[in-house]
Amino acid sequence: MLVVTTLSDQSVICTLGTSTEVMDGPMRVLVTGGSGLVGRAIERVVKEGEGREGEEWIFLSSKEANLVSAEETRAVFQKHRPTHVIHLAAMVGGLYRNMRQNLDFWRDNVHINDNVLHMSQEFGVVKVVSCLSTCVFPDKTTYPIDETMMHNGAPHVSNYGYAYAKRMIDVHNRACFQQYGLRYTAIIPTNIFGPHDNFNIEDGHVMPGLVHKTYLAKKEGKPLEVWGSGRALRQFIFSVDLARLFVWALREYNEVEPIIASVGEEEEQSVKDAVDAVVEGFGFKGEVISFPFGVNYPFHPQTLTNRSQYDTSRSDGQIKKTASNAKLRKYLPDFKFTPFKEAVKETCDWLAANYDIARK
Ligand code: NAP
Ligand code: GDP
Repeated sequence: MLVVTTLSDQSVICTLGTSTEVMDGPMRVLVTGGSGLVGRAIERVVKEGEGREGEEWIFLSSKEANLVSAEETRAVFQKHRPTHVIHLAAMVGGLYRNMRQNLDFWRDNVHINDNVLHMSQEFGVVKVVSCLSTCVFPDKTTYPIDETMMHNGAPHVSNYGYAYAKRMIDVHNRACFQQYGLRYTAIIPTNIFGPHDNFNIEDGHVMPGLVHKTYLAKKEGKPLEVWGSGRALRQFIFSVDLARLFVWALREYNEVEPIIASVGEEEEQSVKDAVDAVVEGFGFKGEVISFPFGVNYPFHPQTLTNRSQYDTSRSDGQIKKTASNAKLRKYLPDFKFTPFKEAVKETCDWLAANYDIARK
């Protein structure tokens, strides 16, 4: 039987049957960032059948603990005593928020990651699956990108604070294995979208931004404004598919080396393709205006001495970051991704039905 308890601080505990106190019994999984896009999707798949009898799943929000704080992180581990951790909590944002706040992304994320991984080690957590991002890969690279290439060069300058903080998770995991034999690992997803995303237009990622802007344009009878040239390429993954991959990794994936979670290279979409899917998802009949004067940063962080060199208006960001899912396919040749347009439609419908409570 599944028992779901929502606490006053918004964190959610799912208990499946009888929970147990022992480390070699059913898992007690602490999901940091449990109130976000990916966390809510994991909660959904656990409730819908991925959870097992006796397991306890704890979905944390920042209201229960600010994981930037070492003391609060220790207290939350003391309270829940997890056997396993899925680590999602992060300062997260789309291209334009990253460009404005590289320092904040670096500092918050480096503290959150060190606190969560260090407490996991100290409290004897058996396994941690953390979340990286394809932003970690070098900007100047060959394609497709694979898991071996993470540390081969500087990441794209638009989000280097976030990217370097994420790379340090991989360093931490490898050192933990070398020093203590712990098999802490990470998943590297491409651009994620789905219900419960952050639909804030200025701060969020491209998909939730487009979904929100199209919702408003349709409601207000105004044109839809798309930023950048529309030519940038992205691989989009539906949050619910990624959630299933996280649960699989927690149970089955035993490498310390990270694994890319992505649809195939052939399913890469342009931003324009994403616009078309959202327009179709809402049945939007109005005008679509694009701003094709996005300027990519031609610089690396070391050479950015003069802020006036930036064009922070509406850059395309990294033009592409095509990732290989060959490793994932070796493990899971039959994994079925939700068709892109179906997942976009579900996301559009979710925002329309939940507009008042959506993050925006
Ligand atoms: P999200 O929807 O913005 O959720 C972020 C989660 O982190 C929320 O639960 C938030 O709690 C929590 N959090 C943020 N700051 C915290 C803090 N100081 N202390 C404790 N909790 C904190 O993000 P998401 O899209 O689900 O991202 C999940 C993971 O995927 C992140 O590691 C992100 O870097 C990675 N990722 C995301 C994308 C993407 O396209 N979205 C792509 C690649 C990788 P509150 O709800 O209480 O604020
Ligand atoms: P990234 O994938 O890490 O670069 O971040 P995003 O998810 O924010 O995607 C940025 C890409 O989408 C850039 O090429 C933008 O020009 C383009 N884009 C078009 N419209 C929007 C929008 O409304 N919001 C965001 N964040 N990006 C947009």
